Amino acid sequence: QAKRTGRGAVVVYTREMEEAAKRVTHIEQALRRAVAAGEVEPHFQPIVDLETRRTVGFETLARWTDRDLGPVSPGIFIPIAEERGIIGPLSQLVLRKATEAARDWPEDLFLSFNLSPSQLVDHNTGLQILSILEQTGFDPRRLEIEITETGLMNDPASAQRIVEDLRRVGIRVSLDDFGTGQSSLGRLREFHFDKLKIDRAFVASILEDRPSEHIIRAILAMCEGLGMEVVAEGIEAEAQAERLTQFGCAGGQGYLFGRPCNADATLGYLHHTGEQKTLQRASS
Ligand code: C2E
Ligand code: MG
Ligand code: MG
Ligand code: MG
Repeated sequence: QAKRTGRGAVVVYTREMEEAAKRVTHIEQALRRAVAAGEVEPHFQPIVDLETRRTVGFETLARWTDRDLGPVSPGIFIPIAEERGIIGPLSQLVLRKATEAARDWPEDLFLSFNLSPSQLVDHNTGLQILSILEQTGFDPRRLEIEITETGLMNDPASAQRIVEDLRRVGIRVSLDDFGTGQSSLGRLREFHFDKLKIDRAFVASILEDRPSEHIIRAILAMCEGLGMEVVAEGIEAEAQAERLTQFGCAGGQGYLFGRPCNADATLGYLHHTGEQKTLQRASS
């Protein structure tokens, strides 16, 4: 089966493409049901101070296990949620559950939360986040939102307005996955970010190639000049952590320090690591 497009190019629709489209629709339907039933869960991955190795906060990462499909990766279901208009309700569900869990953690720990590009063109996003924080009693000054450069491109003015509304109540803003996609240094002049997260692609190659090392050092110098905090993502090896610390990178995240865990396991992790004292203080 072939279809002629406007400019005369021929697009061939194969059986594989049809199967893929069916699969996406199947996932979409299952996801709608799961969101309505409250079955998408926040997991939490520690973010540490590289020098002291103390946990300073957690990134919230959505997890979904479907009855039939089994566990579905966010790399699959988040883009589908975006395309099919489910990201709003999914995001609200995950933020509600995450802030309910994190409310009981030591209050010096922050929680970060990812916003999708389509949420930055939806003027309801700001109010929805604020009303969830109010309902769960989570201090907005402990929340960070992570946005990507793609999220800023569609409608920069709209993104700017949403970000400003969130900033007003003390929510901090991070630039996620820096160094991939449509990186533009101009964006760093227009927007003020509190924090920049170096994409794990650079971290992965920091020990192997000189260009990655130079790029990371340049990013760190730039962040210092602009007054932005930095977190290097995807640290898996001790040698990577050491090299990054040497370069003056303050924050780190990755399997070396901890994988994303559910709320119960995260509470256990906090009791287990150097956080006991603050935990006891927080709960007394
Ligand atoms: P992200 O925001 O860049 O999150 C970091 C991703 O890197 C997570 O993948 C995390 O599990 C993974 N990661 C952390 N440390 C390591 C490491 O040492 N090695 C490797 N190889 N990977 C590591 P995950 O959980 O699969 O999420 C993928 C993406 O899905 C996220 O990328 C984020 O863009 C999106 N996402 C996840 N949860 C949500 C959500 O609640 N809302 C929105 N809008 N997007 C979300
Ligand atoms: Mg992120
Ligand atoms: Mg990231
Ligand atoms: Mg990412």
